Parts: sequence; structure tokens; C-alpha cells
Amino acid sequence: MMAPGFGFEVTHTDGGARRGAMSTPHGDVATPAFMPVGTQGAVKAVTHRDLADLGTGILLANTYHLYLRPGDDLIARAGGLHRFIGWPRPILTDSGGYQVFSLAERRTITEEGVSFRSHLDGSSHLLTPEKAADVQAQLGSDLAMVLDECAAFPIEPAPARLSMARTARWARRARDRFETLRTSPPAGVMPTNPGQAQFGIVQGGVYPDLREESAAATVAIGFEGYAIGGLSVGEPIDLMLETVAMTTRHLPPDVPRYLMGAGTPEDLVESVARGVDLFDCVLPTRNARNGQLFTSRGRINIRNLRYREDQAPPDADCGCYTCRHFSRAYLRHLFMAGEMVAATLNTVHNLRFYLDTLERIREAIAFGWFERFRTEFHQRLSRRP
Ligand SMILES: [Zn+2]
Repeated sequence: MMAPGFGFEVTHTDGGARRGAMSTPHGDVATPAFMPVGTQGAVKAVTHRDLADLGTGILLANTYHLYLRPGDDLIARAGGLHRFIGWPRPILTDSGGYQVFSLAERRTITEEGVSFRSHLDGSSHLLTPEKAADVQAQLGSDLAMVLDECAAFPIEPAPARLSMARTARWARRARDRFETLRTSPPAGVMPTNPGQAQFGIVQGGVYPDLREESAAATVAIGFEGYAIGGLSVGEPIDLMLETVAMTTRHLPPDVPRYLMGAGTPEDLVESVARGVDLFDCVLPTRNARNGQLFTSRGRINIRNLRYREDQAPPDADCGCYTCRHFSRAYLRHLFMAGEMVAATLNTVHNLRFYLDTLERIREAIAFGWFERFRTEFHQRLSRRP
């Protein structure tokens, strides 16, 4: 049984790249799409108005953070996450697993789930596949993720197999709970979005046979979409792209594919070429706050002394608010002076660069010139031949 408010259609293909239309209860998303990361229900340093002006089609929010603070019960009572944060467009929530594995203290993994202590106040919690589904049902995101075990890199084949198999068992439990929440929610759980869809996650490290097995097991359960997990965790870029290609090969063509946590603009273009439809990454927002700007001719660090009297905009080819109004010299000054608006202006630009890159990708696929776009994109950035 598929989620009622969800749909996906591939409208154009160009080589391995796909352009598609995804419909959710809170509107449609043109794919390939990039999701800015709104960790605590806000993208750091910018307002929702900025995000809307930039053409953000879908936002990502972190379940771990919202579960701990202010709590999914409170958000459900407020009518769900869209209403609580005042963002009417689509939202994807992660399962909370990634943050439990990276932020929380005193983690213990068992077949039941992951017990951990909050990084905020040390309180004890147990995150199970069922609990992750419950919390996301209360948040009422349009796309929910199953709880998976996030294996580290590097990992040997044997532990990678155990971790992949557990992720598949957890996916079965997550889907069962998701169905229950839709038909007869247990007492104490208040789903706020009846049209929520759920994505499964393919794991398996960088091993082709494990990726194939994981994809088969996850697809057999049947989700509205599939994510590629366990990448962008420190593996070499070529190995990541190889793994993406060996995974998308085993996924059904008519559902969305989401590469979790990637990456640089170059990674996005290369992953689209391998059949990926959805992305999220903290790079554009985090790097903006550190003074690093992504431009069509590569990255610049605005702190650099060479920009002290540079009256040019950050990127002459960019039409964002920052580039239309301000010089590198002024942005450098704001950053050096510690002005809060430096983070805002840098974030507006970086997000625009990512969202604009995705828009140009979609256009290139629709017109059948994605290969030419890809070559020119890399030539300009001059990182790859
Ligand atoms: Zn700009």
C-alpha cells in the first residue's frame, strides 16, 4: 500500500540522469533537487522568506534534534512541523539515527534499537525503528526515513554485512509501524500528516555484493522511495561515485533515489549522472558561516587578504541578493568584524549556487544536453578535466 499523498514520475532521461516530478501533501518538487538542512526547524542564519526567495522546493529537518528539543509531542500539539515552523512546503525528516551515531553519548546498539544519552542534558533514550517512525509521524514531515545502522568507514566486509542485514530487519519493522500508524495509530502517538511517505535506506559499505543484497531486501519491503546511506563518511570520492552507480543499478526506475549527506557541487553533478534524484548537505550553509563561498569558478575564502579591496561581487555569474548588492571587500569586512549578517549573506549566496546548479541540471536533462553541461561545469570549476 503506497502513501496516498505521494507520487513520482520521471519525465525525462538523459544518459543515466533523470528529471522528475515528485508530489507530496505540501506541494510538488522538481527533481533532481537539493534540500537545504534545517537542523532544528530553521536553516542557520537565514529566514524561511530567504529560502522561499531562493526557490527552495523542499527542506530537511533533523528528527534527533527536534525529538530532544522542543519534543515531537509539543510539535504534534502545535499541528505538526509545517505549522510549528511556518514552512508550508515539503519537508523531509531523517530518522535521527545519524545524529545518534555522531552526536549522542554512551550509545549501545542492540537488535531492539540504539540506546543513548542526550548531548543536551544527558537524559537516557531508546531509539527503535518503531520509535523513529512514531516521532516522524508526529512531526508530520512529507518524507520520513527508516532507522538504519550507520556504519563507519572504513569497515571490513564481515561487519558491513552484519550492519546491512540489521538495517534490512529494522526496515521491515519500520514499514510495519508506518502501516500501523496510518491505519490505527497506537495510544499516545498523534500523526499530523496522513499523506506522509516513507523511504527505505540501502547500506552495505563500498561492497558491490552487499549493496545489491541490501537493495533487494529493501525494495522487497516496498517503500515510496530509496536512499543510499553510508556514503560521504570519509571514503575517497571515486569510491563514493562507484558505490552510487552500483546501488542505483539495483533500484526500481520509477521511484525517487536520495543520496544522503552529499556533497560538493561536483559530487551532485556526478551523482545525477548516476541516477540520483535528491540530495541534502550541510556544506553550503556550514561553509558559508566559515567564510567559504562556492562560485561558478571554484571556491573562494572571503577572509583572504586578497579580497580586502576587491569591489567585484562574490560570483559575477550569480543573481542572488548578495551578489547583486555587495562586494567581496564588504563581505570580507563584515566577516572580519564578526557581524551576524555576514553569515546570512554568505548563506544566501551558497544556497543560491547549489539550488541554481540543480536548476541548470534539470534544464539540461530536459533539453538533452546534460553531458555538455557536465563537461562545462567541471571545466569551469577546473577541478576535474
Ligand atoms: Zn550570489
